[in-house]
Amino acid sequence: MLGATDIRRLAAELDVRPTKTLGQNFVIDGNTIRRIVAAAGVGPGETVLEVGPGLGSLTLGLLDAADRVVAIEIDPKLAGRLAQTVREFRPERADSLDVVLADALKVTELPHAPAALVANLPYNVAVPVVLHLFEHFPSLEHGLVMVQEEVADRLCAGPGSKTYGIPSVKAAWYADMRKAGVIGMNVFWPAPKIHSGLVSFRRQEPPRTTATREQVFAVVDAAFAQRRKTLRAALAGWAGGAARAEAALVAAGVDPQARGERLDVAQFARIAEAGEAARA
Ligand code: SAM
Repeated sequence: MLGATDIRRLAAELDVRPTKTLGQNFVIDGNTIRRIVAAAGVGPGETVLEVGPGLGSLTLGLLDAADRVVAIEIDPKLAGRLAQTVREFRPERADSLDVVLADALKVTELPHAPAALVANLPYNVAVPVVLHLFEHFPSLEHGLVMVQEEVADRLCAGPGSKTYGIPSVKAAWYADMRKAGVIGMNVFWPAPKIHSGLVSFRRQEPPRTTATREQVFAVVDAAFAQRRKTLRAALAGWAGGAARAEAALVAAGVDPQARGERLDVAQFARIAEAGEAARA
């Protein structure tokens, strides 16, 4: 396990100056790492995908719990040092690590199919990274991510709640998302100004529909772009007029005067299906 002193030594050696743009806040507290690994529930037979291994504190914890870790890191200095850090601290696990130097938003292939995702995500791209990985790696069955607390609330929100929005509906297309805890600021170096939230997830089947994911997500984007409007008005652009939007909503069994924040992902799928059927 890497402690605060190890992290600072590694950072100094590499001349790493953590940047906000890359969301570089490194965990310096061993208990937090143990808590994340335990809550993630990864097992001995599993390959775990980690996004943003940074200086390696979570990577080392994951190597103790799982069979293999595939780590995607965008910063060449950090990616270049990771294997050596593992050789220093866990030489017996060095062969169980794959480092991929890449932007996680662009990765569509990995050396091993991951069963789990466990990551302290770069906060500014956390939601797109999670959605991208769900889409491109169907082998991902479960996992745990650490994100800004507010983003954790959004990812886990259900219809009708204040934080329910585009990330909540799109994440629900792929998985059952649950908030699994809150992490304070002082376990990081440098310390962020906000709390972090843990989100655990388990893959679930998307709603049964003849509409494609893209078609469903287009309805979601349109509905929340004008959150305060009724669905009849908000979906007018998508449907080619308010009357057509109303017809699709009625066909989907959704009240045209309702707002998007009240609908679950299955209802969005029904609207997309009705809209596409009317277009055909
Ligand atoms: N896992 C480490 C820890 O917990 O101490 C570091 C976590 S830090 C919050 C986020 C990490 O993601 C950084 O190492 C950063 O360089 C990396 N990163 C940022 N954007 C990325 C991207 N698009 N793809 C892959 N890695 C990225």
